[in-house]
Amino acid sequence: MKNIGIYIHIPFCKQKCYYCDFLSFSNSEEKVDKYIQTLLKEIEYSKIKNVQVSTIYIGGGTPSIIDEKYIKEIINKIKENYIVSNQAEMTIEVNPGTVNENKIKKYLQIGINRISIGLQSTNDRILKEIGRIHNYEKFLETYKIARDLGIKNINVDLMLALPNQSIEDLQESIEKVILLNPEHISVYSLILEENTKLESLVLENKVYLPEENLERQMYWLVKRKLQENGYKHYEISNFAKLGYESKHNMNCWKQMEYLGFGLGAHSYYEGKRFSNVSNLQEYEKNSFKKIVHEVQDENEKQKEYMLLGLRKIDGIKISEFKNKFALNPLYVFRNEINKLVEANLLAVDADYIKLTNKGIDFANIVWQEFV
Ligand code: SF4
Repeated sequence: MKNIGIYIHIPFCKQKCYYCDFLSFSNSEEKVDKYIQTLLKEIEYSKIKNVQVSTIYIGGGTPSIIDEKYIKEIINKIKENYIVSNQAEMTIEVNPGTVNENKIKKYLQIGINRISIGLQSTNDRILKEIGRIHNYEKFLETYKIARDLGIKNINVDLMLALPNQSIEDLQESIEKVILLNPEHISVYSLILEENTKLESLVLENKVYLPEENLERQMYWLVKRKLQENGYKHYEISNFAKLGYESKHNMNCWKQMEYLGFGLGAHSYYEGKRFSNVSNLQEYEKNSFKKIVHEVQDENEKQKEYMLLGLRKIDGIKISEFKNKFALNPLYVFRNEINKLVEANLLAVDADYIKLTNKGIDFANIVWQEFV
């Protein structure tokens, strides 16, 4: 039986962070119940037979903002309709200030074994400037509750290149988080998205974003600090203690199949990429309507395998590519690979094709070759 992942989208947040363009609504408590009932129906009727679920990822939005009874209903519905592996990795995204001891206890009771906490920075001034709902103290409270209740796999999300963030601010955040010893740390560079409050603030010269040069210095500082402290850099923005790489995300980067349920959620199944609609009313009227974005032929699959795999720091394992496609990637992509190796962006190292350090800085140029 093949393994798949399940992604659940909870599109509710307490308030919108200034940089965020994710599909989420703030102050919409009255919409939650109807949404969850639609989601439960979608899980039930979109059932696929003969698969085993090896990861469940509840993301958003802020999944921890809704009553824990809904999370329980979602997990139960998945278990009623799918075979869920006993060792399944089950993650929920949590924002500080939206959980208490009781909520996390309930998560544990229903089998959630990984918590991903959105911190972004330990600096309260910066947190305020990006519209986060919490301060550092609130994060510490949340982290301590999760740890004390026995959660053994915690991710902390941080961001770099935040408005008015100095390299010292970032270093302080990294050092404080390392002291807490989470199993996994994600560090994303801020991307200024269109039509966000942050974009207006930048256009009005009310806040300043670090220059690209400084952003790169920040990135390499994070990489060095985390590696010195026992975290493996395993994907462009992700670091983990040995054995704690996010299975859900790793599966996506290995082009494994997953089903997404909920508003706008994306799926990859049998060579097809499809998603749900992203309009809430439309979703609630017809949650089974899928928008097909791509039906891949073999060559498109191979290209995408390269594109996704080159997000991993270990890169593409040549023997795995050969097993999957019965072809040698060094031959299939000889033109692209030669060009990128000559530009010192890619290296072929024994059984691996991977980004060089320069390739990490210019990863977009590498990925572009496989789009
Ligand atoms: S909590 Fe996350 S999803 Fe919600 S507004 Fe902030 S960044 Fe966006």
